[in-house]
Amino acid sequence: MKALITSFFIFVSTLCFSQAMELPFDVRGLCMNAPSPDRLKQFIKFMEDDLAANGINTLVLMVDFNYEYDSYPNLRSENALSKQDVKKLVRCAGKNNIRLIPHINLLGHQSWASRVNNLLREYPQYDETPSVVMPEKYEWPNDDGLYCKSYCPLHPEVHKVVFALMDELMDVFEADAFHAGMDEVFYIGMDDCERCRGKNKAELFTGEVKTIRDHLAEKNQELWIWGDRLLDGKATGLGEWEASENDTYPAIDLIPKDVVICDWHYENAEPTAAFFALKGFRVVACPWNRPEVMKSQLELIKAFRQNSNDELKSRFLGVMQTVWTGSSNFLDSWYGEKQNDRTLGNVNSFKELIKYINATGN
Ligand SMILES: [Zn+2]
Repeated sequence: MKALITSFFIFVSTLCFSQAMELPFDVRGLCMNAPSPDRLKQFIKFMEDDLAANGINTLVLMVDFNYEYDSYPNLRSENALSKQDVKKLVRCAGKNNIRLIPHINLLGHQSWASRVNNLLREYPQYDETPSVVMPEKYEWPNDDGLYCKSYCPLHPEVHKVVFALMDELMDVFEADAFHAGMDEVFYIGMDDCERCRGKNKAELFTGEVKTIRDHLAEKNQELWIWGDRLLDGKATGLGEWEASENDTYPAIDLIPKDVVICDWHYENAEPTAAFFALKGFRVVACPWNRPEVMKSQLELIKAFRQNSNDELKSRFLGVMQTVWTGSSNFLDSWYGEKQNDRTLGNVNSFKELIKYINATGN
């Protein structure tokens, strides 16, 4: 009888243990543009009623120039968030156990369509391709291969400005992680740049990741980036957008392993999260606007966790929904006030993610 009772307890404790092993995702996230000041109140309500209430614990806010920077007021966008505005977001996040991670696009994405963004508008000397003139009407493809401008990572002054912006954001957001973008960098190591001409592109990319990472590490802060420049676009069949066809991908073996990789794929649930994890990185799968792809990404992350040893398992952090429209557009669509095809898929994908979290406890 005693043996039977002992076996029963072993059985029960094994059950509890195996359930405890199925830990929820570390990251149940959303990544979107920071709100404009006139929508702040509604955004805070959204954080409380829709994010926190549904188990979302990570919010990457793409702030970029939407903040009243003191260090470089010339880089503020019009109608930017004030310090008081940001503190309201920080208080709401703290109260609701949401990790806030501010974002500024670094290296690439320094222009959009026919407009140069604030950094290169104010400091054109940082431009990697000074001879590429912004077209009046932007079209892709074009003769210059212009998707977005990049800053030159070897310009001796650029990090003074970039670090000042990062430091201010990290400070006001009271954050322990920073998202630097660094996706879709098409212009790197260009012949147009006297400093970068002829240099190894993977080493240039690595250098910039390391420079930003080391700056954050001084204050025990963590760097997050998108993963596309670290994947071989040709060998994987992923192409030049969600992977690299401009020779940056060997950087995957050169950048520090404590950088968190946001592995975005929008058309298929590509199994690249396993590749990043096997290389030693922590990784977050990032869907966009196709609910069925998002569900497959969730299932993949779940399967990778279930089939990995403990060390590897801990690197699959979870899933983060991305939003690629303005914050106000997304809120309009979320609350059903205005709907368009672009935002609807995005909203539906996020609703499915929330449904999954609520159903599974993940
Ligand atoms: Zn350069």
